[in-house]
Amino acid sequence: MVCIGIPTGTSVLITDRPHLLQHAQTLKPSKTITSQIHVRFLDQPGNRARLPNLCVRRDGVRVAALQTKTAWPTQSMVEKLPLEASTDVEYDAVIIGSGMGGLATAAQMVAKGAKVLVLEKYLLPGGSASHFKREGFTFDVGSSMMFGFGDEGTTNLITKCLEAVGKKMATIPDPTQVNYHLPKSSRFPEGLNVRVWREYNDFVGELSARFPHEKDGIQAFYDTCWKVFNSLNSIELKSLEEPRYLMQQFFRNPIACLTLAYYATTNTGEAARRYIKDPELLRFIDLECYIWSTVAADLTPLINSGMVFCDRHFGGINYPVGGVGLIAEHLAEGITEHGGNIVYKANVKEILMREESNGQQSTGSAGQRAYGVKLADGRVFRGKTIISNATRWDTFENMIGDDHLPQGEKLFRKRYKKAPSFFSMHIGVKADVLPPGTDCHHIILENWDKMEEPRETIFLSMPSLLDPSLAPEGHHIVHAFTPDWIDAWQGLSPEDYERKKEEVAESLCKRIEAVIPGLRGAITLKEVGTPRTHRRFLSRDDGTYGPIPSRPPFGMLSMPFNTTEISGLYCVGDSTFPGQGVNAVVFSGFGCAHRALCDLGMEPSWPAVDQVLKSSLKSIRDGS
Ligand SMILES: Cc1cc2nc3c(=O)[nH]c(=O)nc-3n(C[C@H](O)[C@H](O)[C@H](O)COP(=O)(O)OP(=O)(O)OC[C@H]3O[C@@H](n4cnc5c(N)ncnc54)[C@H](O)[C@@H]3O)c2cc1C
Repeated sequence: MVCIGIPTGTSVLITDRPHLLQHAQTLKPSKTITSQIHVRFLDQPGNRARLPNLCVRRDGVRVAALQTKTAWPTQSMVEKLPLEASTDVEYDAVIIGSGMGGLATAAQMVAKGAKVLVLEKYLLPGGSASHFKREGFTFDVGSSMMFGFGDEGTTNLITKCLEAVGKKMATIPDPTQVNYHLPKSSRFPEGLNVRVWREYNDFVGELSARFPHEKDGIQAFYDTCWKVFNSLNSIELKSLEEPRYLMQQFFRNPIACLTLAYYATTNTGEAARRYIKDPELLRFIDLECYIWSTVAADLTPLINSGMVFCDRHFGGINYPVGGVGLIAEHLAEGITEHGGNIVYKANVKEILMREESNGQQSTGSAGQRAYGVKLADGRVFRGKTIISNATRWDTFENMIGDDHLPQGEKLFRKRYKKAPSFFSMHIGVKADVLPPGTDCHHIILENWDKMEEPRETIFLSMPSLLDPSLAPEGHHIVHAFTPDWIDAWQGLSPEDYERKKEEVAESLCKRIEAVIPGLRGAITLKEVGTPRTHRRFLSRDDGTYGPIPSRPPFGMLSMPFNTTEISGLYCVGDSTFPGQGVNAVVFSGFGCAHRALCDLGMEPSWPAVDQVLKSSLKSIRDGS
């Protein structure tokens, strides 16, 4: 066993896993001691401020809680938060929200010398990719399966984004992306079990062993994904709404650009059916998409699948030491160090607009230009560009108003709808309940026909298996979540709401015991969240995971990029191309920053042809 402190000073890593030892070299000795026993509910009144009242060392000695005596973030952390920024200046960019999309945009822009202000409603950066601490556990709010952290190529956008503001994080390689526990069938009486290994050939070999008659089809399908990925991974990823950059990339790498153009309108289901005939295997491909896009393969663009299905083998899945929330915190620190401002507890209520003036040609059908934002406390901040990292529904319906909904937004709402939210459980367990060799990420599904139904597909992440510093000694984290709609949780009395949470939690834990036998008897802490919790803490309309197509999209071209029909207003994050996922929203941040910097005259561009490209993309999108 090796016991080492992490440089951030926040955590302790204890491991007997050989693949972690390499990270130990740079770190200092330290120790951790607590194990605690609690079952609490995240949004139960009063609980957020209640003390852990039992804190027992492994040798049985009762000690004062090592963790905070209040909810986390602690009072002293909150007191140190930057809450003010000048209202007298005009910023180059005012960014609403410090999710990974907003932070990626800010990082790229401050690195180019732009004057940036990020306004965050909550107390921490990161949004769905943030973290929280309870009684010695550091829980990722959402994401734990991290793409984009590789060292090579161009799709390692998280690495690149941190680098832009002078940051680098140690990561822990995950030997598998996910371990699938899938329905029983006549062919698989014990259920279909497939591991997506980090090594591509190991994964394709295992899948082919399950479906030997489809060996060639499996190879051909995933090879197609590699064609897409290799093309993406050989060009610089910036704004697809910027003609000068597109032309430059084309002359540098015409084959890659033509390959991407060829697959731009293809969906994954169509590509899979070209090579694969077995219905059970096609359902597996559906699930391969569903676990990150929350829709089946027919509704998932191939460009997106190419990125996900190959980066997991190219750069690999890598967990950041200390937890996913530290990515956002490092970015926030780097942005500030580069002259940017981040203000917390800043609830943007309104995007301020005026008629386009000064002879400027409006790029928006509405003839309106966004020039600032107004907070709930009345403060007004002005910006040459306004960039919203909130969902499209929160941005347009809530901060602009139904009356000003541009035509393109109305069409978007016909093509896309809100994905469900999640029912989630952040659980602390005694470590010995996890069978030796347990993988970090699992998917459990018992019935193919129910894959997309609420609370049917269960996602499990146990990141403390990779980074034990996330849990007290002798414990692990089990983060379980499953898609769920907010409607099922509305209109309940407080008692019925709590009862329902307990019932759903109990039935999910029972099903998870297929992978973790004895789970229910090993739980020491349990925080349960519903779609209402997601809506409240993530400020996302209905707690949605983001937009999903209502009908097969025109490949990647149906999803809006970063500009909107209101001049000066941009969107970034999962409501824009390429959609959900941390690396995906960082990609959208790269695109958004690039387009905004061009419009600010801080990056070279061809304004004369901008409008032609934007109009062409818009007409393809609106007509799709
Ligand atoms: C349970 C769950 C598990 C997931 N697992 C993974 C995974 O394993 N791997 C992966 O890659 N992705 C995963 N994801 C998806 C990924 O986390 C998200 O797609 C991504 O983090 C979204 O980033 P974003 O910047 O678009 O938005 P958000 O993270 O929602 O950030 C938006 C920010 O804007 C702020 N905001 C909103 N409105 C206002 C306002 N009016 N004023 C000021 N601020 C405001 C919010 O507080 C928030 O901080 C998961 C998501 C969830 C919910």
